[in-house]
Amino acid sequence: MMKVVDSISRMSTLVKMLKKEGKSVGLVPTMGYLHEGHLSLVRTAKKHTDVAVISIFVNPAQFGPGEDFDKYPRDFKRDEELARSAGADILFYPSVKDMYPKGYSTYVNVEALTDTLCGVSRPGHFRGVTTVVAKLFGIVKPDVAYFGQKDAQQAIVIKKMAEDLNMGIEVKALPTVREQDGLAMSSRNVYLSNGERQDAMSLSQALARAEALVKQGERDPGKLIKAMEEIIQKKPSARIDYVSIVDTTGLKPMDKITGEILVALAVFIGKTRLIDNVIIKVDSKDDKSKFAKKGAQ
Ligand code: AMP
Repeated sequence: MMKVVDSISRMSTLVKMLKKEGKSVGLVPTMGYLHEGHLSLVRTAKKHTDVAVISIFVNPAQFGPGEDFDKYPRDFKRDEELARSAGADILFYPSVKDMYPKGYSTYVNVEALTDTLCGVSRPGHFRGVTTVVAKLFGIVKPDVAYFGQKDAQQAIVIKKMAEDLNMGIEVKALPTVREQDGLAMSSRNVYLSNGERQDAMSLSQALARAEALVKQGERDPGKLIKAMEEIIQKKPSARIDYVSIVDTTGLKPMDKITGEILVALAVFIGKTRLIDNVIIKVDSKDDKSKFAKKGAQ
């Protein structure tokens, strides 16, 4: 039976009991309006740890002014059913008042990694994310925490936070779950009109194009970015926030495609800001053989 826990103190007591029993705890932090992306994380947590905890908290600290905090989709009853069906043992559902009581004044900030990609267009966003995740880690004390590759920068930032602050928590990033046509699942997809839903496919299409071009031997990030931008710009409701190619550790732009690269993009489809990404591994042996072939011509 899944337990629903809506207070921090009850959650802490429960965790203390579980730890005493020697149980391992897996945590999946979410903002709710659950979909298969979230549920795949819960299933993995359930497989790898004794107790799978899913948290649902729409975190005001990670939304900027003018962003969609107020209208972010919420449906607790539906989420409760879905979490239960995915095998969650505990659903932690704290209130904003409990998480940020009057006088709250402590924030966690990961430097450098948050200055690029989504950090540029959403100042303060990652500070809100790392703060709430640090709090959830402090309350739930998980052995392992599960995040989605869909939010690639977020997963990298949280890994860094856990490491830098010696939290002793293993942070895992799991593959992006997609709709049949390639669109990455997101709670925000519900905002899209029918026409916008069509245009939204251009994000994953652009990433697929980049992958294909790299496979064909393209090693110039500028050319890949241009090819992706062209696909997205064709869509009437699309406005590009960024299309970037960075390394997967420092998130720094690359001047040549080599090793492991993160191709990441953020696009407004109408008023809805969507993100997607893919990691491409370029075999250095591949590079050499291509170079050798060219040289022989
Ligand atoms: P959110 O509720 O959007 O804050 O997401 C909660 C967690 O689910 C984060 O770790 C996300 O990266 C992850 N997530 C969201 N969408 C997907 C998806 N399509 N596939 C895999 N993980 C996802």
